[in-house]
Amino acid sequence: MPPESPGMLEMSRTERKDIKRLADSISEQFKHFDKSEVESLIRLFNIILAEQRGSHAETKLDRLDFQHVMQKSFGITEETILERVFHVFDKDNDGQISLTEWIAGLSVLLRGTLEEKIKYCFNIYDLNEDEYIGQGEMIFFLKNSLNVEPKEQLTDEGIKDLVEITLKKMDHDHDGTLSFIDFEKTVLEEHLLLEAFGTCLPDAKTILAFEKRVFQVLMDR
Ligand code: CA
Ligand code: CA
Ligand code: CA
Repeated sequence: MPPESPGMLEMSRTERKDIKRLADSISEQFKHFDKSEVESLIRLFNIILAEQRGSHAETKLDRLDFQHVMQKSFGITEETILERVFHVFDKDNDGQISLTEWIAGLSVLLRGTLEEKIKYCFNIYDLNEDEYIGQGEMIFFLKNSLNVEPKEQLTDEGIKDLVEITLKKMDHDHDGTLSFIDFEKTVLEEHLLLEAFGTCLPDAKTILAFEKRVFQVLMDR
């Protein structure tokens, strides 16, 4: 064991106790995680804060810190989607991610029920937050998620056709826009359409790797 100064040991012990106490007091809010998992997520949150800021002076993650984690840990790379993920996590809309927003968001990403994921994805795609995925939003996201293709293949006609096909499949009440009910109904029928307008959830392999790293390794620190 490397020699540790009594001060440092004391501090980490205090810190450990604080984290435990905090986990005790908040873990009931998060039904998908047990107490020790909440503890690990608090530790990870603190590590990210310390890494990004070089100190614990900050208590919330800012947009760039957060998006960096989403890219690095979950492979969510598309810029517009990253921006939306940030907004969906940032429930109180203060431009930063607090600890409880962090754990609540991760609870959907890692362990969310289909119903929770449907809500999450709908909110991601509802850019202007008017409770509908309108045709403008569809075009925006479809263009975005297809932008790996050569640009000339993406004619306005092509996009229009794509929107038409999408509406045919998803717009159950035929009013030309997707309400939450349209979206939910579609996804319940065909789960693959959950991320119809762009990848905004980590895949199973990524989740497994993240959970292994965070819940097993961080637990022992
Ligand atoms: Ca916030
Ligand atoms: Ca909208
Ligand atoms: Ca509709």
